[in-house]
Amino acid sequence: MQRPLAAHAADAIVLGAGIVGVSVAVHLQKRGRATVLVDRRGAAEETSFGNAGLVQREGVYPYGFPHDFGALFRYGLNRTIDAHYHPSAIPHLAAFLWKYWSHSKPARHAVIARAYAQVIEHCIAEHEALIAAAGAQDLARPTGWMKVFRSERERDTRFAEAQLWRQEFGLNYRTYDAAQLQAMEPHLAPILVGALHWTDPLSIVDPHALVLSYLALFEKLGGRFVQGNARSLEADGSGWRVRTVDGPVSARDAVVALGPWSDVVTQRLGYDLPLAVKRGYHMHYRAAGRAVLNYPVLDVESGFFLAPMRRGIRLTTGAEFALRDAIRTPVQLGRAEPLARELFPLSERLDTEPWMGSRPCTPDMMPVIGPAPRHPGMWFAFGHAHHGLTLGPVTGRLIAEMVCGEKPFVDPTAYRADRF
Ligand SMILES: Cc1cc2nc3c(=O)[nH]c(=O)nc-3n(C[C@H](O)[C@H](O)[C@H](O)COP(=O)(O)OP(=O)(O)OC[C@H]3O[C@@H](n4cnc5c(N)ncnc54)[C@H](O)[C@@H]3O)c2cc1C
Repeated sequence: MQRPLAAHAADAIVLGAGIVGVSVAVHLQKRGRATVLVDRRGAAEETSFGNAGLVQREGVYPYGFPHDFGALFRYGLNRTIDAHYHPSAIPHLAAFLWKYWSHSKPARHAVIARAYAQVIEHCIAEHEALIAAAGAQDLARPTGWMKVFRSERERDTRFAEAQLWRQEFGLNYRTYDAAQLQAMEPHLAPILVGALHWTDPLSIVDPHALVLSYLALFEKLGGRFVQGNARSLEADGSGWRVRTVDGPVSARDAVVALGPWSDVVTQRLGYDLPLAVKRGYHMHYRAAGRAVLNYPVLDVESGFFLAPMRRGIRLTTGAEFALRDAIRTPVQLGRAEPLARELFPLSERLDTEPWMGSRPCTPDMMPVIGPAPRHPGMWFAFGHAHHGLTLGPVTGRLIAEMVCGEKPFVDPTAYRADRF
C-alpha cells in the first residue's frame, strides 16, 4: 500500500491564476505569507487572456440590464451585436436574469454604483503600483478610451450622463465634435458625429502579458505557481489541502479565485450562490495599409469595441447569455465585423478562430470579495463580470489585508458573500 505524500506546508493557497488570483497571490506574498498559486492551466489562459484591456476608472456604474422597452424588444429578437442569448439557456438563467433586472432598476442601480465607486476609485493606483513593481510599464498606455457616436441623440444622452458622473464621482473626460474626432483619429470613417473620451483609464496592450508580469513578480517575491485541480481541495485539520503535480499542498488559508468556475468549489462547500456568465468573443485584425487606431473605441450604437493591441486591432463583442460550457456561437462577431470594417480599415483576420471568454457574474453586478460565511480560513474573490481586469489588484489587496488581519483600505462589507 502506498503511503500518502506528506503535504508541502504553505501559509495560503490561491486557487485560480487569472488576473484576480495572481493579484491576490502577489499581495499575500508581499505580506510575507508563503503562498502557493494553483491553476489547472498556465496563468491567464482563460477570461483574463482576451479581454478588451481597459482599466475602467470610469466604470462606476456596473453594466445593468436594460429597462427601456425598445432595448428589451431589440434584445428579444436576438439579432443585436451587444447582446445574444441561447434560447435553450433561458430556463436555467431565468432566476438570475430576474434578480439582475431587479438590481438594475434605476434607484437600486444608483445605490450599487455608490458602493462600487469606492473600489473602482482605486483601480488605476493599484495597477500602477503592481506595474511599477513588475516593470511592466510598456504594457499600459495612459490613453483613456472613447465612446464614438453615429447619432446626435445618442451622443447628447451620453454627454449628459458623463456630466452627472463627473459631478458625483469626479471622473474626467473630454467631448469631441465630428471635426475634433477626425483630428484625433484620422482613420475612423467620417460617419461619426462626435465622441466622449474618458481620459483616466489605462489601456493594456496585452492583458495576458500583464498577468504574466504580475506572476513573475509573485515568483520573484518567493511565491510558487503549480498546476493542480481545485476540485481536489479538502479540509485538512484547521486548514485546507489541495493536490498538485508537485504533490499535496496544505495551508491555513485558501482563496477561491476561479472566475467563472468558482462554483466548482463553492457548491461543494454547500454555498448556493447566484452565479452566471456573460460570454464574449474577440478576433484580431491587421490594420489595412498605414491606418492607425490611436485609442480604444466603443461604437456605442452598434455595440462592438476596437482596441489597438500588440497583436493587432482587437475586436471584442458584448454579452452572450448562455451556459458556461455550451458550444461556442460567435454570431455577434460575425455581425460586428462588417460594421467594424466600415468604421476602420481592417485587413485580414489574424486568429484562426474567435477567442471566447466567460465573464463571471453576480445578479447585483458586484464581485464577491471576503470570507466564506461558514468556513474559517476560506476566502472568496470572484464574480468581477465586466471589470475583472480593472479590479484584480484592488481585490488582491483587499483579500490580503483581510487574511492578514489588517484594516482593509476600502470597506469590504458590500462585497461579502453573505449578502445573498
Ligand atoms: C470580451 C471580454 C472583454 C472584457 N473586457 C474587459 C475590460 O476591458 N476590462 C475589464 O476590467 N474586464 C474586462 N473583461 C472581464 C475580465 O476579463 C474578467 O472579469 C476577468 O478576466 C476575470 O478574471 P478571473 O481571474 O476572475 O477569472 P479567469 O481569468 O477566468 O481565471 C480563472 C482561472 O481559474 C482556473 N481554473 C478553472 N477551473 C479550475 C480548476 N478546476 N482547477 C484549477 N484552476 C481552475 C482557470 O484556468 C483560470 O486560469 C472582459 C471580458 C470579456 C469576455
